[in-house]
Amino acid sequence: MACCASIRWSSTLVDKPRGIILDLDGTIYRGARIIPGARETIERMRKGAHPLIFATNAIESVAEHVEKLAGLGIAVRPDAIINSTFVLIQRLEREMPRARVFCLGDPPLIEQLAPHFEFSEDPNAIDVVIASTDRSFDFRKLSIGFHALRKGARFWATNAEPTWQQEDDEIPDAGAIIGALEGCSGRKLELIAGKPSTFMGEIALERLNQRAHECLLIGDNLTTDIAMGQRVGIPTVLVMTGLSKRADLERAPVKPDYVLESIADVPRLLEDL
Ligand SMILES: [Mg+2]
Repeated sequence: MACCASIRWSSTLVDKPRGIILDLDGTIYRGARIIPGARETIERMRKGAHPLIFATNAIESVAEHVEKLAGLGIAVRPDAIINSTFVLIQRLEREMPRARVFCLGDPPLIEQLAPHFEFSEDPNAIDVVIASTDRSFDFRKLSIGFHALRKGARFWATNAEPTWQQEDDEIPDAGAIIGALEGCSGRKLELIAGKPSTFMGEIALERLNQRAHECLLIGDNLTTDIAMGQRVGIPTVLVMTGLSKRADLERAPVKPDYVLESIADVPRLLEDL
């Protein structure tokens, strides 16, 4: 293939994709800063009639994501965004519709759960402990989660990334909260709602109304984006603007179909397909 910036790892052939699933953090923006070329690439994809879905493990509401993208000059309809909170609520409503929830998570997650579930801090009453990005995590919360898990509450998470990439830094993410709960309770996490679980990929394909192998997934993280693409059967593009680095590729058990420096290189890839 002619696209000089890409490495092709597998023999997967994607004809012109009928739908494209895009990660946000590390792919479209990094913290508050847009990745150069992201806006233009999205415009080109739209002109090329590639329907787009944005799939993120971030817990902020769909409305917050719409607003953030608008602030970066990218207009997106709410139904084109899937966050890990939405997937978690769907799963909980299906499996435990009357669950009493204890949530170790930031306010946007609590606010989205509140209309659907009752919260409890009584370990005897908690049906499910939800671990997530929690920047006010403390010993009190850990103790409640520990006792609830010891008493048999289910153990779910929105996402499980060890760290969260900021503009010029990384901070601890949901993986740290999961690790703390696992470390004291002896329990293992039972379910991750977001990537790399298949749930989010299946919802994205439903919204695109396409089959997996006819789509393309673009993300910056081997263990979430690329792993989910492989599990669901969606060809993948790894971009180098986020968490995963070229050195990680060599030892990664899951390889992307294409590797590009940045989302700015995607139009050239699409032309070559
Ligand atoms: Mg990302």
